[in-house]
Amino acid sequence: MGREDVERVREAIDIVELIGNYLPLQKAGKNFKALCPFHQEKTPSFYVFPETQSFYCFGCGASGDAITFLMRTEHLNFREALERLAERAGITLTPLRPADRVEDERRQRLVELNRLAAAWFSHVLWSTAFGEPARDYLARRGVDRATAERFGLGFAPEASTALLRYLTRHGASPEELVEAGLVVRREDGSVSDRFRNRLIFPIRDQQGHVLGFGGRTLGDAHPKYLNSPQTLLFDKGRVLYAIDLAEESIRQQRTVIVVEGYLDAITAHQFGYTNTVASLGTALTERQARQLRKLADRILLALDADTAGRQATLRGLELLRTTLADQERPVADPRQLIRFERTLGIELSVIVLPEGYDPDDLIRTDRARWDHALAQPVPLVDYYLDVLLGEQRPADSRAATEFLQRVAPVLTELGDPVQIDLYTRFIARRLQLPEETVRRALATYRRRPLSAVKAPTNPSAGTRPLTPEQQFVALLLRYPEVARGLAAELDDETLLDAQHRELLGLVLVGRTLEDTDIPEELRHYAQTLRERIAAQPELPLPLARQAIRDAFRRLRRERHDERLRSLLSEVRAAEESGDRAALRTALELVEALKQRFPEFYPEPSPYFRDTRDPVT
Ligand SMILES: [Zn+2]
Repeated sequence: MGREDVERVREAIDIVELIGNYLPLQKAGKNFKALCPFHQEKTPSFYVFPETQSFYCFGCGASGDAITFLMRTEHLNFREALERLAERAGITLTPLRPADRVEDERRQRLVELNRLAAAWFSHVLWSTAFGEPARDYLARRGVDRATAERFGLGFAPEASTALLRYLTRHGASPEELVEAGLVVRREDGSVSDRFRNRLIFPIRDQQGHVLGFGGRTLGDAHPKYLNSPQTLLFDKGRVLYAIDLAEESIRQQRTVIVVEGYLDAITAHQFGYTNTVASLGTALTERQARQLRKLADRILLALDADTAGRQATLRGLELLRTTLADQERPVADPRQLIRFERTLGIELSVIVLPEGYDPDDLIRTDRARWDHALAQPVPLVDYYLDVLLGEQRPADSRAATEFLQRVAPVLTELGDPVQIDLYTRFIARRLQLPEETVRRALATYRRRPLSAVKAPTNPSAGTRPLTPEQQFVALLLRYPEVARGLAAELDDETLLDAQHRELLGLVLVGRTLEDTDIPEELRHYAQTLRERIAAQPELPLPLARQAIRDAFRRLRRERHDERLRSLLSEVRAAEESGDRAALRTALELVEALKQRFPEFYPEPSPYFRDTRDPVT
């Protein structure tokens, strides 16, 4: 499947007709509008533009092309959406390369086996006598049935081959069940169920596919919690438990609460905190955080309160520092987390729970305190300093030195000299040392990370000139490291083409075109783009950064202007027809546009104050 296929599909599909199948569209000048399907609203701010074959919501900023629309409404991935549209248009897509197809089929097979297994676990839980201990357990933990069903909970009975027998009757081979992680092979070659006498938590992706399972023992088997092993589908560093149920709510609130355990997430949802996911480990990985970044502006980490545990965690985290370049690993190192906060442009805070509580307990027993903790999250740096200083005897000079050595690289990550200064003073006060001493010590211990850029050189000529969006994406592909450094400034709302959004996402999570699981049509397209600018001279880092910034700004300007033009034509039409209500709505949308593109509406200068202001 190549670029040509995507273009053929795009040409054959009319976005107005497509979206018209989902939403009642009203005419608005030469465009159409409707109530936004991606956020809640009373007056329509969701627009479809036939001219650019794109959509845009002035309220929540959702935007894109026909493929993006289908991906979001039907929860499909790029290829699935493309296939759906091709089918609609009666276009036969070029078949996938055999290797891709094989892998794709294996994946789909595993998804199917997991679906069957999940349904069976759920059946055992609710409809058999075997499920009774698990039902009792859920009742004791206060999980109501509706919530349990929403999470697809199930039960794996004690019998060692019950699931194995069930699935083989449905045509599964023992080999593929081992591959799916549902069954284990013993040393003597025999096979048996992985999960036995355990309450089962299916772990699903954003689209609701079951990727793997977690199982909590109801007896005294070890470990207490057992997860699926790493499979083609399941990768603990990537999954976010409850993301499928939390997605809409996270989008609407632009905030996500990250807890650690299954029951923490389930209880949070049951009590209405539906923007909660669980990281299924002690710390968030970069991959998980980047996934959340697409939905939220704020991440609230609900960590266990007990101080000993907290300090042990921090120490463990710091040990990991050297290995943290790998994004599949937990980002436990505070320095990484803070760099993240800066490069991703996401706000990271910690919800500090009272001693001895986890979110599950606290929500059930003292909701007011949970709400209070939620309302007062502690910024990450403050939290970090707090934990470190908590164990610090201020007068002990050796301890103070050690403390400063640990803190210096973390503060450097803040980047902002004003903030660094504030924290320096705060530390000086707490350590009872002169500010100047602390400042000098911090400067000595600081280390700046080095970064390197590789760029391919593979000259090739193209035919049509690249569109501004293509040029931008080509730059990203050529200077991926630079692009990652700008992650906070680059958002995919500005890109209209679903393929470009996918590529931006891949570059920002550090994937290269050599990664095998990148869909073939994307890799092929990306290669073409990269080759198209390969003949351009290699830019030094700062210039590459500037080039990417400029290209992105041009795009944003373009998007903004298009949207503003469409609104102004509506304003004119409303004025002519004397429709006051329509006029008011259109002007409100202009206001919304200003909020979304503040850089094109500069604030009044603080240096030239309005002298009429009576206060100053
Ligand atoms: Zn919207």
